[in-house]
Amino acid sequence: MIIISKKDASVQKIEELYNFLDRHQLQYNSHSSNGHLVIVVNGTDLHEIKQQIMCFSAVENVIPLSKSYTLAARETRNVNTSIIINNLTIGESELIFAAGPCAVESREQIIETALFLRECGVHILRGGAFKPRTSPYSFQGLGIEALEYLAEAREKTGLAVVTEILSPEDIDIIIQYADIIQIGARNMQNFALLVKAGKSGKPILLKRGIMATVEELLLAAEYILTTGNSQVILCERGIRTFETAVRNTFDISAIPLLKHASHLPVFADPSHASGKIELIAPLAKASVAAGVNGLLIEVHKEPYNAKSDGHQSLTFQLFKKLMKDLQALYDYLKQLD
Ligand code: PEP
Ligand code: MN
Repeated sequence: MIIISKKDASVQKIEELYNFLDRHQLQYNSHSSNGHLVIVVNGTDLHEIKQQIMCFSAVENVIPLSKSYTLAARETRNVNTSIIINNLTIGESELIFAAGPCAVESREQIIETALFLRECGVHILRGGAFKPRTSPYSFQGLGIEALEYLAEAREKTGLAVVTEILSPEDIDIIIQYADIIQIGARNMQNFALLVKAGKSGKPILLKRGIMATVEELLLAAEYILTTGNSQVILCERGIRTFETAVRNTFDISAIPLLKHASHLPVFADPSHASGKIELIAPLAKASVAAGVNGLLIEVHKEPYNAKSDGHQSLTFQLFKKLMKDLQALYDYLKQLD
């Protein structure tokens, strides 16, 4: 709900309104616009309260929101959110590339990969330290050892690092090493994890759940935003459908839907979306055409020897070519705007 104050509302009348909102334990934030105070109240089911708020003499209008989420909605914030990490800005005019192996497998592997990716012009190094594997018998990641290798790779290359958190208990250790915390598809609705990661104040890459609607993804983002952390990147990575020819069904429409509904930056992950090397380039190109701010792509020096997701990891050579093509496509599309 958005409350618009009267232009001449006195400080005392505004205070009365704030006291009312506090008494009802509502979360809100306010800013001024053209002489009016605009108060954005989080949450839904506010119809009864709306009538009461209309009775305050400081109030000119109350606009109910059409969405179930507030802070993530473009309706409440009409400027795109940009996320700044050192020299890197996510969510503005540059197409951002995040790339690297599914999992950090060794010091040599991640440093060699990071050096290669930096030469390509990649911005963010990805690499799992704690891996969410379907089978308990599969490689689970190197844990803290991997975080140390990622930090060394960052030091050598200047690349920002994104890595996944699986458990709220790991937050203190992850924030020592990661520039961006990844919350994976399996944990998109792990609300305790969303809040814990949100409170760390670090940028968060939030991936769409395997069975999540676009609205549920935005509500998961809302959990992070309510902690006061506004640095959320949404990531479309495919959803589970009846189709078995691909690992997941890439929901291309989610990209313009998210861009339309929210001010948050949107990434696509064509690797997990398809599970197939040969589909990554076309899906990545489609993502750029659909308006993503960035891409998350798995890259491995020897995909056939990878400890996880080798079947969807691009070789160095394939990645380099794809990145060039994506940048050219992005530059071309920008001219049409
Ligand atoms: C990953 O990025 O390695 C990963 C596990 O992704 P998702 O959560 O999308 O499956
Ligand atoms: Mn993976």
